[in-house]
Amino acid sequence: MKLGLVGIGAIALKQHVPAIAANPDLTLAAAASRHAKVDGVPNFPDLAAMLEGAADIEAVVLCVPPSPRFPMAREALRAGRHVFLEKPPGLTVAEVEILRADAERAGVTLLASWHSRYAPAVETFAERLRATRLDSVTVNWREDVRVYHPGQTWIWEPGGFGVFDPGINAFSVMTHALPNPFHLTASDLFVPQNCHQPIRAELAFQDTAGVPIACTFDFDQPDPPTWDIVAETEAGTYRLAKGGAQLFLDGQPLVDAPEEEYPALYRHFVDLVRRGASDVDLLPLTHVADAFMAARIHQVKPFDENVPADA
Ligand code: NAP
Repeated sequence: MKLGLVGIGAIALKQHVPAIAANPDLTLAAAASRHAKVDGVPNFPDLAAMLEGAADIEAVVLCVPPSPRFPMAREALRAGRHVFLEKPPGLTVAEVEILRADAERAGVTLLASWHSRYAPAVETFAERLRATRLDSVTVNWREDVRVYHPGQTWIWEPGGFGVFDPGINAFSVMTHALPNPFHLTASDLFVPQNCHQPIRAELAFQDTAGVPIACTFDFDQPDPPTWDIVAETEAGTYRLAKGGAQLFLDGQPLVDAPEEEYPALYRHFVDLVRRGASDVDLLPLTHVADAFMAARIHQVKPFDENVPADA
């Protein structure tokens, strides 16, 4: 399958280009970006020019931030191309529903991708939780925005998601691995005076069996990051760590494997296209929308990328 990659920034270069190169079913046939280029392929300034200049592209992978993504996804679907959306799949829940209908009408595949679900320990975590009684869950998703999103001013703008940009990865794992559906019961969002999006979120959920789930998402933790989900269960304390790369039970390692999320995600995309299917799970995005909808907003000191996190 010939792919066109749109939005050549951090994730396109770090993960998508190597994952595509390593998959024998895929060829990177073109790239489109306003400023950046991918070596060794035809480059175009935007999607329209790419669809015209590299007309044999069968699928379009959108790695731009969520806010400009919707018109691009519509354009690609209407042009009869399969579409792979980076997470978060859109700026709003409703727009992704429109894309789902567009894909169905066009008879092409739409993938709303959730890379963290493909972290190596996530499936074992889900299996273990299904086999025991869950008592409580604590999620800590903390990193230094200055280290992981340097210069990405879009993240603080409306539709940039702020700390929910990484936090939605935790939601994608939780909605996949926790045994029951859960819903928000409290949301406190901490928004710097000079930003439109939160730098920290304190969230409480309850699952359908009454299990409490506490989440802290924090963009202001000095390196190293913490991407942990801790589940207290009848079998002991499970800790999914490093974003899903490691799993411990009562401190003893059960899984510790190298990160292979994007290669697995691309295999899933190829499989969907072969089967003529789509995968559009909006639950992680719905939890983000709920957290904004039910939020108590707290204004905090202005954010300055040049002032270190522990200052
Ligand atoms: P990024 O480094 O800012 O790259 C995105 C690129 O999209 C920009 O370099 C820009 O390239 C292009 N773009 C097009 N329209 C834009 C607009 N209106 N505003 C800003 N950029 C625009 O961001 P990223 O980290 O790659 O993240 C992109 C998406 O991937 C986000 O949805 C993010 O959540 C997701 N993601 C990121 C990571 C990560 O660790 N960084 C991990 C997984 C997923 P041109 O200026 O050349 O057009």
